[in-house]
Amino acid sequence: MLLIKNGRVIDPASKTDAKLDVLIERDHVVKIAPSISAPNAEVLDASGSVVAPGFIDLHCHLREPGQEISETIESGTKAAARGGFTAVCPMPNTHPVNDNASVTRSILERAAAVSPVHVWPICAASRESKGEQLADIAAMQQAGAVGVSDDGRPIASARLLRQVMEYCGPLGLPVIDHCEDSSLAAGGVMREGPRSVRLGLKGIPAAAESICVGRDVEVAAVTRARLHIAHMSTRASLEHIRDAKRRGLAVTCEVTPHHFTLTDEDVQYDSRFKMNPPLASRDDRAALLEGLADGSVDAIATDHAPHHPASKDVEFDRAPFGITGFETAIALALGELVHTKRISLMRMVELFTTGPARVLGRKISLAEGALADITIFSPDRAWTFRAADSASRSRNTPFDGRNFLGGPLATVVGGRIVWRLEVSAAGKTAI
Ligand SMILES: [Zn+2]
Ligand SMILES: [Zn+2]
Repeated sequence: MLLIKNGRVIDPASKTDAKLDVLIERDHVVKIAPSISAPNAEVLDASGSVVAPGFIDLHCHLREPGQEISETIESGTKAAARGGFTAVCPMPNTHPVNDNASVTRSILERAAAVSPVHVWPICAASRESKGEQLADIAAMQQAGAVGVSDDGRPIASARLLRQVMEYCGPLGLPVIDHCEDSSLAAGGVMREGPRSVRLGLKGIPAAAESICVGRDVEVAAVTRARLHIAHMSTRASLEHIRDAKRRGLAVTCEVTPHHFTLTDEDVQYDSRFKMNPPLASRDDRAALLEGLADGSVDAIATDHAPHHPASKDVEFDRAPFGITGFETAIALALGELVHTKRISLMRMVELFTTGPARVLGRKISLAEGALADITIFSPDRAWTFRAADSASRSRNTPFDGRNFLGGPLATVVGGRIVWRLEVSAAGKTAI
């Protein structure tokens, strides 16, 4: 038995926000009440902390199979647990691509052996994600895939997208699209604007994303299937999403912590500022903050994209896109969204829990009888993120050395504490 005592329980499903104890027996929550006593239970003192349903990351790259030099399922999921996530959804752009059931099964077998958190794979929409022929989606769903995407690139044509959506609709699988018009984005390495001109780097216009979002929304209207827009970064894209929601379409979207924190004005000749979509304009960031606050945005997702220094630590032009993200996500959300009073703590928890769960067609809550996947975080602990201490095999983050107020404290998966912050030498940390 595990007893989490004195925490502030925040559960968006029931709108609970109260100081309560949580008692767990084996892998389920058996009681939530004030002042539970259970003499035989292991006690986790959560005084001053928030106790929430397990955080879900809809979008990450674990690099296994094929690029284990950058990350493995083991190292990536350890980083996820340290970041407070109890479930992560790895994208299919591994080598080989997760485009058939044997790859899906091998990922899940590896995860069962080494991962402290749930791994819910996203499978490819097309074979090798080449955008030509449909992948064997039904077989991959049977093997355990929870969504479909050709992430790394968009689903190649409106015609293929329509086929994929017509196929996935009856299966109940969300189609997740990395929206980018490649004819506009080709060769670009950062957002097109005054900063790209000043740095002499080839720009990607904002419209490269929003044109594709517009296309996707129209295809969603034709098929009535579920569409999820990955790492949305522009105001124009958000307008398409709002329009889709007004029309009653099953369209959802996610925003990454780096897009709601940084802008193209932060970009330097340093490949840790190179990601796709690129950091956007100040006005785009303002739009994302509005969308996160007003409910237009459904989830925060990290797009954790580790790269080994040998490939990433090169000239900006030549470096691959992507940054790591698991271990800084909660702290960035607290710092940029909650402490600035843009959103409530309840809304933040929703963006990491019931929001992403809904995208996957699932319901989660922190309630009696529920599976004991629980994230415990401090809303205000002062700490400094050191990339060198990360559990990830890669270090490609622009947030190395950043000071934070608040961050993950403990991660409970299936009733088991899979990670907890070690008490500092000063003994200041409760957990
Ligand atoms: Zn992507
Ligand atoms: Zn991605």
